Amino acid sequence: MRSLLFKSILSLHPKHCPSSISHFAMAAATRARIRGVVFDMDGTLTLPTIDFPAMHNAVLGEDECRRIKAENPSGIDILHHIQSWSPDRQRKAYEIIVDYERQGSDRLQIMPGAAELCGFLDSKKIRMGLITRNFKEAVDIFHSRFGRSFSPALSREFRPCKPDPAPLLHICSAWDVQPDEVIMIGDSLQDDVVCGKRAGAFTCLLDEEGMYSAADIAEVNLEPDFKVASLTEVQSILESKFNLLP
Ligand SMILES: [Mg+2]
Repeated sequence: MRSLLFKSILSLHPKHCPSSISHFAMAAATRARIRGVVFDMDGTLTLPTIDFPAMHNAVLGEDECRRIKAENPSGIDILHHIQSWSPDRQRKAYEIIVDYERQGSDRLQIMPGAAELCGFLDSKKIRMGLITRNFKEAVDIFHSRFGRSFSPALSREFRPCKPDPAPLLHICSAWDVQPDEVIMIGDSLQDDVVCGKRAGAFTCLLDEEGMYSAADIAEVNLEPDFKVASLTEVQSILESKFNLLP
């Protein structure tokens, strides 16, 4: 793990790596500063409750859904796919999507370890933001159930959505921090890790079920800096691998 982190830091900060300095001394001297943490919402701060395969079938129809899935084995980007549809067809698609999202919000449960991790980050005065492809109403429900708000909290009304780096860069700009002073934490390799890496941030993939294989990671060609099975692991990574300085 340690050597992997060194590799990550070396590749992310080549300017800090003169060859005459040992890797150990270099890593200690260049332990990256983290000033903000950006979370994904569904499946990261909340337990996954949205039935995405059923939603995709309902929006696209089973045949079209199967065809698109065959062309995109890593997953269907439904928001991207419906972008080119006529306004009327898009409106109907969004009605279906919102219906599934509302059902998900009704069953909302906070992810184990989320409150503790946020309490720890509060104690260090580290900024916390949120980026989701869900709609604003779901973020409002989440804030009220969790009993705290993230700021900025960008829902899909902010375009372009993840995996575009724009929402993360917007948050960095609002916080007046550099992207490499931020870590993006999420459960989607295709959305969260790709968004974070494209923005130039550190990334942490939450993979509770061990869903992602090395081949999946190789496919997006962007390896997360860290992979964890629970949010409780995130605190020890932040404490041992970074300088948490607001
Ligand atoms: Mg997610």
